[in-house]
Formats: sequence, C-alpha cells, structure tokens
Amino acid sequence: PQLANQIAAGEVVERPASVIKELVENSLDAGATRIDIEIEKGGAKLIRIRDNGSGIPKEDLCLALSRHATSKVKSLDDLEAILSFGFRGEALASISSVSRLILTSRTADQTEAWQAHAEGSEMAVKVLPAAHPVGSTVEAVDLFFNTPARRRFLKSDKTEFTHIDEWLKRIALARRDIHFTLKNNGKTVRNYRPANTEAQYVQRLGSVCGKAFAETCLRIECEHNDLKLSGYLQSPNAADGYSDTQYFYVNGRLVKDRLVNHAVRQAFAQFAEGISPGYVLMLELDPHQVDVNVHPAKHEVRFHQSRYVHDFILQALQSAMSQSTQ
Ligand code: ADP
Ligand code: MG
Repeated sequence: PQLANQIAAGEVVERPASVIKELVENSLDAGATRIDIEIEKGGAKLIRIRDNGSGIPKEDLCLALSRHATSKVKSLDDLEAILSFGFRGEALASISSVSRLILTSRTADQTEAWQAHAEGSEMAVKVLPAAHPVGSTVEAVDLFFNTPARRRFLKSDKTEFTHIDEWLKRIALARRDIHFTLKNNGKTVRNYRPANTEAQYVQRLGSVCGKAFAETCLRIECEHNDLKLSGYLQSPNAADGYSDTQYFYVNGRLVKDRLVNHAVRQAFAQFAEGISPGYVLMLELDPHQVDVNVHPAKHEVRFHQSRYVHDFILQALQSAMSQSTQ
C-alpha cells in the first residue's frame, strides 16, 4: 500500500499548506470550534493540528490511517460531495506515507486518549495510551523525509509559511465561528477569535485584511429571490485598490471567478477608474444553480444563470455604494 499511498499523496499533499488544509478540514468535519495549528521550519519539520472536535474512537484509529477509509460517505447522495469536496478517505493515509505521523485522540465517552504512530516504510501502526482532552491532534513530522524529490521541491520556510498563512486567511474569513491560532517556530503569530457578532467579524477582518480595509469598508447585505450576497467592499473613497484583498465565496467555498471581479470593477467605474477594488463577499444560492469544478484545487465555478447572478451582484454593490456617498 505504501507506493499507492505515495502516489495518492502526490495529488493530496503538494506542500505543507495542502497538508494543513486537509487536516483542518478534518477538524471542521469533526465539529471542532477551536483549531490550533503549529508549524516548524515552514511545516517541513513539523505540522501539528490540535482540535476540540469529536475525536476518533480507539478502535478506529488504525482505520483512519488506511486508504479509502472514510467515515463520511453514508449514501449515494454523498457521491456528489465526494466529487466536489474531495471526500476520498485518502488524506491521512497519504500524509502518513510521506511523513512520520502521530494521531492522538479522545472521544467524549473514553476516559483516556490513544495515540497511533504510523511509520513511513511499513505503514505499521502501533497504538499507545496517551493524555489528551476530547478532540484530536495530528502531527506530521519531517514531511517528505522519504521522498527526496518532493522534499527538494519545497520552497524556503518563509514562502511555505506564506502559503499556509494565506490559506488560513481564506478559511478564517469563511468560518467566523471557529477560533483559529497559528504558531510558527514556537511563536503565536495568528489568533483569530470566534466572531459571533458583526463587530467581532470586522475585527477579524482587520486582522486578516489589515486595519485600513476593515475601518473603511462598506457592509454589503442584499437578498433577491434565491440569491443572497453579504460581506464587505472597500470604500469607493479610498485612493487605491486592495488587490490582495479579494475573496469571493460561493456557498461557503472560496472560488476564483471573473464574474465577481467584473461586477466589482463595473460598480467602481463611476468612482475610480482602473483600480482593483478589495472585497470579501459571500454569495449563497441554490447549489443546483452552480457547477463546482470537480478538481478541488481549481476553485472554479460555473453559474447556470451567470448574467442574472452578475447583475444581482452589481446592483447590490451599487446600492451600497450610492448610500455611502450620498
Ligand atoms: P476523509 O476526510 O476523506 O474521510 P481522511 O483520510 O482525511 O479522509 O480521514 C479519515 C477518517 O479519519 C475520517 O473519515 C474521520 O473519520 C477520521 N478523522 C480524521 N481526522 C479527524 C479529526 N481531526 N477528528 C475526528 N475524526 C477524524
Ligand atoms: Mg479528510
């Protein structure tokens, strides 16, 4: 299974940021409300994700590490979710095939925690008693230690950190209910507290996108039939754009889409020509009205009624802007 796992790892585990993405998604799936991420040397030496989710029962620990073992696909309907969200039961197996992986976990009805070690070459797993509150910690040590070509492909610690940090920003903006922290080489560098109120979310916006954006942006809140747009748009009075603050989520998923960029630029055209405005916008619509690219890394979508969606976004932005400049 080792080779198959390493081949799968090539798709799932490109770099430390993709390991963290998979592990944090597992924590979210397990209902965690707090997720602590720790890395050393850009994640190459250590990635540690600790959550307060449901935990994994002792008897399932080994299973969780084996390929195509997922607890998440219960029916054929879920196949849709597999295609769009990549639930494949491959992440832990893949990561353990290219690192030294330790999984520690405790469920609410266990009195003690258990720890599984997966060692690269044999994929042999041993399970030992451990100390841990309800929830899980996954540690991936020495990423790519046994795949030197991949190891060499890693960029500097700083670049790998930047990838991780940027990914964390995206998820932190979308999951305001979750407390995220990030520790880099022993120092806590991000602490995104849960945002239960809009004011707290604006604070989070300030930590993620910078104070200048958060203090001047316009709130967007608009609903029409089955479309709902909410979030924040940079002020039309700002002298510059915020081209590195462009986040668009469709039904909670970050996507890259020209449609929203076009609508935002068009809305800005009467105020400022040629700037690239910043925004954090969440669009909710009937999932049947949008196709998500089956490639999980591409973040592309296709709206069935793209003109309609575009015009809705444009009008929502224009009305917020005209109110602010009255
Ligand atoms: P998938 O997420 O596609 O099911 P993974 O390989 O990522 O596959 O995880 C395998 C299984 O391990 C999950 O289905 C889940 O049951 C369990 N698991 C992994 N991480 C966690 C976690 N942090 N908390 C609880 N269960 C987890
Ligand atoms: Mg997973």
